[in-house]
Amino acid sequence: MFLIGCHLSNAKGYLAMAKDAQTIGANTAQFFTRNPRGGRAKPLDLEDITAFHAFTETYPLHLLAHAPYTLNACAADPNLRQFAVNTMSDDLARLEYFPGCCYNFHPGSHVKQGVEQGIIYIANLLNEVLIPEQHTVILLETMAGKGTEVGRQFEELRAIIDRVTYSDRIGICLDTCHVWDSGYDIVHQLDAILDELNQIIGLSRLKAIHLNDSLNPCGSRKDRHAKIGTGEIGLNAIAAVINHPKLCTLPFYLETPNDLDGYGKEIQLLRSLYQK
Ligand code: FE
Ligand code: FE
Ligand code: ZN
Repeated sequence: MFLIGCHLSNAKGYLAMAKDAQTIGANTAQFFTRNPRGGRAKPLDLEDITAFHAFTETYPLHLLAHAPYTLNACAADPNLRQFAVNTMSDDLARLEYFPGCCYNFHPGSHVKQGVEQGIIYIANLLNEVLIPEQHTVILLETMAGKGTEVGRQFEELRAIIDRVTYSDRIGICLDTCHVWDSGYDIVHQLDAILDELNQIIGLSRLKAIHLNDSLNPCGSRKDRHAKIGTGEIGLNAIAAVINHPKLCTLPFYLETPNDLDGYGKEIQLLRSLYQK
């Protein structure tokens, strides 16, 4: 089955989000755990969550939570690192209400402390927030390498995973725009790149795909998403990604610049290109 959906707002609750997914024919949905720029999360509405679970019993939805992108696990300021720990711990406690939902985050920016120091701080954060009583798998997102972002090379993600105690609960999320921008030519070298990913990290850790075209050329390190088929990656390469035997059963999440209607059309287009 093709698992395709997109980033959706949960501002009106999880039931409303699931209904939006149904409206556009999505069977996956990504949402922010709180305001993407950080800040306090709303108190959990248990009635809404119960209604969401009842709804998704008849309309199954692959969920992916996304941490606020302003968190920086490897900030130079220890208060900012502590803020990232507190926020992620709180998110993980909340995600216990959504069994099977993974938690994706941007590893962070080392802000000129060096990638090695960044890796140490990110692993420290994971060792603080991962506790045995919780079940959520945390995904490290592959990054474009904008500024001093950590995670633009598979080796960096591997180095983080190697330092985590409960590393069985760490996976990765591959963002097609980000890997392209960071220099992995998925248009011409998809097989070789997946082999490399398998050798360095292991494909068994790959739990989700962010499916985006890119406004910029391979290696640009920009991180500007484009609508499917309108960017530098292009429709043929996107079709090859969703149909690749090593990827085709994973959940795909669009993060393209679209409103709900536009997402619906992209989902339709991608379904017409999916070959199974
Ligand atoms: Fe992201
Ligand atoms: Fe992404
Ligand atoms: Zn991005």
